Amino acid sequence: MIEFCMLASGSSGNAVYVGTQKTKILIDAGLSGRRIAAALAGIGVNAGKLDALLLSHDHNDHICGAGVMARRYGLAVYATEPTWRAAESRLGPIKAAQCCRLPNCGSISFADLEVETIPLPHDAADPVGFIFRSRWHAVALVTDLGHTTPYIQRRLQGMDCLIVEANHDEEMLINGHYPWPLKKRILGAKGHLSNKMAAELLSQVVGAQTQHVVLAHLSEYNNTPQLAFTAVCSRLKKSGHLQPGKRLKVHVAARHTPSCYLRLA
Ligand SMILES: [Zn+2]
Ligand SMILES: [Zn+2]
Repeated sequence: MIEFCMLASGSSGNAVYVGTQKTKILIDAGLSGRRIAAALAGIGVNAGKLDALLLSHDHNDHICGAGVMARRYGLAVYATEPTWRAAESRLGPIKAAQCCRLPNCGSISFADLEVETIPLPHDAADPVGFIFRSRWHAVALVTDLGHTTPYIQRRLQGMDCLIVEANHDEEMLINGHYPWPLKKRILGAKGHLSNKMAAELLSQVVGAQTQHVVLAHLSEYNNTPQLAFTAVCSRLKKSGHLQPGKRLKVHVAARHTPSCYLRLA
């Protein structure tokens, strides 16, 4: 069994819960400790029972509650060495014994959960995506990347579930109110994936065993859940992955509230 829930998703804060029979971990803590604990309680998980907190990268929307979570619940926090260095001053004091190193392209093992990391192109110190493997299932979490590569596509093959960023609709972003340097950053090779890029990536990596696609990290001003959903569904229909009779389901993660609680048994 592997289960997960998007506790919050987007530039206003990210946190994802991943659990198996014996392991409960949190990926990113980009909202207050209080909100994370409440969101976890809402799906029946006691924050005090978490085994670890893993950080994908050092941007505030992924780490701003990490120091509090570490201190309040005595959590082991895993981050790559450059992410630690970049985030340290914003996390506040965390006991040395709780500061654990994450390889940026490797794996770490918990009781019945294996976590692999994938280096991602994004403008942070050392950003990574994750693959979570239980005995029978594999779930990938890839947000905050400016583009995809053949390497990333290879790593995302064979997943039961794919959580992928669909950050913006290019037209909305280009015509929107953001200042040009910010637009350029988001559109850049180390920015964020557009709906179209997410759709293209998914059409390459969704396989026969894929049951769920979760679209995540949607922009508040440059996207809508409907636009992201439509872009991805129409691409997956075209590639033959989304058809009546096939079990694939596409979900869109909510920004502020827990969503997409999914359990693969
Ligand atoms: Zn982010
Ligand atoms: Zn980021």
